[in-house]
Amino acid sequence: MDFIIIGGDAAGMSAASRAKRTQPDMNVTVLEMTQDVSYSACGMPYNIADPQRSIEELVVRRAEVFREKQGINLLTGHRVEGIQPDAQTVSGVSADGKGFSFSYDRLLIASGASPVRPKVPGIDLPGVLALKSLEDGRNIKQFVKDKNVRRVAIVGMGYIALEMCEAFRALDLEISMLKPNPNLLPWLERSCAQVVQQELESHGVNLLFGQGLKGIEAGANGLKAVCDETSLDVDMVLIAMGVRPNSDIAANAGLALSVADSIAVDKKLQTSHDHIYAAGDCADAYHVVTRSKTWIPLALRANGAGWAAADNVCGKEKTLPGIAGTAVFKVFDLEVARTGLNVPEASAAGFEPVAVSVKTRSKAHAHPGNTTIYLHMVADKKSGKLLGLQMVGREGVAHRIDAPAVALHAQMTVEDFSESDLAYAPPFGPTWDPMLTTANQMLKKIG
Ligand SMILES: Cc1cc2nc3c(=O)[nH]c(=O)nc-3n(C[C@H](O)[C@H](O)[C@H](O)COP(=O)(O)OP(=O)(O)OC[C@H]3O[C@@H](n4cnc5c(N)ncnc54)[C@H](O)[C@@H]3O)c2cc1C
Repeated sequence: MDFIIIGGDAAGMSAASRAKRTQPDMNVTVLEMTQDVSYSACGMPYNIADPQRSIEELVVRRAEVFREKQGINLLTGHRVEGIQPDAQTVSGVSADGKGFSFSYDRLLIASGASPVRPKVPGIDLPGVLALKSLEDGRNIKQFVKDKNVRRVAIVGMGYIALEMCEAFRALDLEISMLKPNPNLLPWLERSCAQVVQQELESHGVNLLFGQGLKGIEAGANGLKAVCDETSLDVDMVLIAMGVRPNSDIAANAGLALSVADSIAVDKKLQTSHDHIYAAGDCADAYHVVTRSKTWIPLALRANGAGWAAADNVCGKEKTLPGIAGTAVFKVFDLEVARTGLNVPEASAAGFEPVAVSVKTRSKAHAHPGNTTIYLHMVADKKSGKLLGLQMVGREGVAHRIDAPAVALHAQMTVEDFSESDLAYAPPFGPTWDPMLTTANQMLKKIG
C-alpha cells in the first residue's frame, strides 16, 4: 500500500512512524516543503531567550533517522500544490524547481497552520517577522543577534506573543505589545486577566490596547510601527496575531471545510473523501463538552490525531472522542491554564452557565512560600455538569488543570468532581485542593 503524507512535523511524522511500526512493509512517503522535520515549535520562545543554545537542539528526530532507521521515504523540499482525488495522486514542485507527482492508496493531509499576516503596507519589510516554523525561529534569533535589536513591537497578545514577550525581556529588549481589542486574553475571566496584565506591567512591558497595526515604515533608525493613534520606533516587529489552517489544497480538491476553514474530519480523522485523512492544526475536532466541531490548534491533538489516522490507514480502527481545549502557558512568573468552556462559550453551546471565582492558596495554611491561585469554574445549572475551569497563579496551576480536563472527558458533574480523591501534602496545596474548594462553592450556587 502507498501511504502519502503531506507535512513532516508533529501530526505527519507521528503518523509516518506509527504506520511503519504497524506495517513495516507499507510504502510510507512524507512530502515536506521545508528542510526541517520533527521539531518542537513549542520550545522556540525558550530557546530564543537563550543566546547560548542552538535552535537545532529543538529537532526531536533528524531526517536521516526517519529515512535510514525507520525506512520512511521522507522527501524534504517538496511542496504539494494539488490533490487529485479521482486519480488518487498528489502533485507539486520540489526545491530544485522540478514538478513531481505521486499516487496514493491512502493520503494524510498534515499541513498544519500558518501565521495570520495583516495586509498592511510594509508587512514584507526586513525585520517584520513571525514565529511558526523552525526557520522562523532561526531567522528571529539571527536577526536579534546581527542587527543589535533593542526595541521590539509585538502585534498580538495571544499565548505565543506572551511567550515571546518573556523571551525578549530575558534578552533585555524593550517591548511594546499592541492589539485592537481593549482586553488582554478576552477568553479569560476578567479578574484573572487583570492578574496577567499586572505581571506584564511589572516586567516593564508597554501594553497598548485599542491599537490596530496600520502599517510599517522603514526609517534611518529601524522601523516605525504605525498604529491607530500612535506610532512606535522599533528595530523589529513580531507579528503574532494567531494562525489559520493550511487547508487551501484540501479546499481546491473539493474536500469539505469546517470551523475557521479547517479541514472537516470525522472521529476517525477521515475527510469528506474516501481514502483521504487529515490531522493536526489543519483539521477540526469534536469538543468533548459541546460535542460540536471546534478548531483549537495544539500539539497533543496533532500528535494523537497523527497516530489515530495511521491506525485507521493500517486497518486498526481507531476513534478519537475529541478535545477539551486544555491549554497552559507561562507569562513571566505566572502559570495560566484553562480547560473546557468559559461563560460566553457555554451560553453559545446552549447550556445555562453558572460561574464562581475563588482566590485561594497554593500550599497548606501557614506553610512557607504560599502564593495565591485564582480559579474560575463554569458549570451547567440544569445538569450540574462541569463545563470548564480557568486558573492563574505562580505555582501549582500547570498540572492541576489536568484533573478537571479528565473530568470533562468523563462528562462529570460538579458534585462527582467535588468528591474526587485528590492528592494532598502541605508543600503542594491545602487539604481541600483549590479545585475542590471551588467545586464546593459551585455546589452552593447551583443548589
Ligand atoms: C512558538 C510556538 C509555540 C507553541 N507552543 C505550544 C505549546 O506550548 N503547547 C501546545 O500544545 N502547542 C503549542 N504550539 C502549537 C504546536 O506547535 C502545533 O499545534 C503543532 O506543531 C501542530 O503540528 P502539525 O503537524 O499539525 O502542524 P505543523 O507543525 O504546522 O506542521 C505542518 C508541516 O506541514 C508542512 N506543509 C504545509 N503545507 C505543505 C505543503 N503544501 N506541502 C508540503 N508540506 C507542507 C509545513 O512546512 C510544516 O512542516 C506552539 C506553536 C508555536 C509556533
